[in-house]
Amino acid sequence: MNAVRVSIAGSSGSIGTQTLDVVRAEPDRFRVVGLGVSSSIDVLIAQAIEFRPEFVAVADPAHRAEVAAALPFATVVDSMADLTEFADVVVNAVVGFAGLPVTLRTLAAGKRLALANKESLIAAGPVVQPLRATPGAEIVPVDSEHCAVHQCLRATVRDGVEVSRIVLTASGGPFRGRTLDDLSAVTVEQALAHPTWSMGPKITIDSSTLMNKGLEVIEAHELFGVDYDSIEVVVHPQSVVHSMVEFTDGCTMAQLSLPDMRLPIGYALAHPERISTPYGRIDWTELSRLDFAEPDRRTFRCLDLAYRAGRAGGSLPAFLSAANEVAVESFLAGHLRWPDIAAVIEASLDEHVEFAEALTSEHIIEADRLGRVAARRVLGSTIVTSKANS
Ligand code: MG
Repeated sequence: MNAVRVSIAGSSGSIGTQTLDVVRAEPDRFRVVGLGVSSSIDVLIAQAIEFRPEFVAVADPAHRAEVAAALPFATVVDSMADLTEFADVVVNAVVGFAGLPVTLRTLAAGKRLALANKESLIAAGPVVQPLRATPGAEIVPVDSEHCAVHQCLRATVRDGVEVSRIVLTASGGPFRGRTLDDLSAVTVEQALAHPTWSMGPKITIDSSTLMNKGLEVIEAHELFGVDYDSIEVVVHPQSVVHSMVEFTDGCTMAQLSLPDMRLPIGYALAHPERISTPYGRIDWTELSRLDFAEPDRRTFRCLDLAYRAGRAGGSLPAFLSAANEVAVESFLAGHLRWPDIAAVIEASLDEHVEFAEALTSEHIIEADRLGRVAARRVLGSTIVTSKANS
């Protein structure tokens, strides 16, 4: 068996390093041919010395000469999107909207995209969808919920007609059960303390606001073509059921496993086969209960903001995702209170104007820019208000 050639865009982050764990565990099955980072070159160099990729990418041009000197065996390419051509499967683990070129180039090259960068699909659905028809192109989601749905859908041969509902599970994040009053003074540290998943800071804050789940609703709509009315979110604090698909006959398939991202990563790399290395197994004698509850949509308003953007479609999801990135950065920098994350995004959405013509990637990039501008403008007045109140 020839090894699957893997490129990783965003190799220094949480998903990138866990992808290398999966490769390390099955060296005969996978071979790393490309690694890319935005600026963490020390991590890149150490990874490249261990895995010997043929190509490396550094988004920040200031660091390229240093990387080239440290890695004489590798070719340094200009952008992470340049890593896509040489691989059988590209892991897009870039954080945020910056992952868009990797998604577009991978699908246009007819390669399998192991998608951890949900923002690119959410923001650019109208541009990404036609590229999925490229011969050989395929998206296998690395997001655990969508990986679960992908697995459940293998239980039907007519998913377009036999699926009646997708149920995405949400851990509820660190603030599950808390009230809005209670949450006005929470710290960045508290928001970063996720109860079940270990992830990067941006997605962990998104998880605390349920924006992550809202973005995942849009992601599920784009990936699986299911209407928003048929995508439900249910809080499941144990994070063992990763999501479910209900079929027209009332049967529900669920995917259960321990919460470890190396499982969806390995699934996406090996698809349609399965890897041989188990990342933990469920002990059914220890697992005494699985709880499910409705999300608190009043406290966690970002969930419905995402439904609103998803239903509107067009460039609004790009605008929402951009405004969210700005609000989360501001919260992480200590400039914004946690409840104001939703307030900033909502006020930003009110400034959105849809383009009149069919959307291209330039429109999506412009919607992203305008979403950031709107959020920064709203933030300016929010910070002034907060200071005046304190
Ligand atoms: Mg997820």
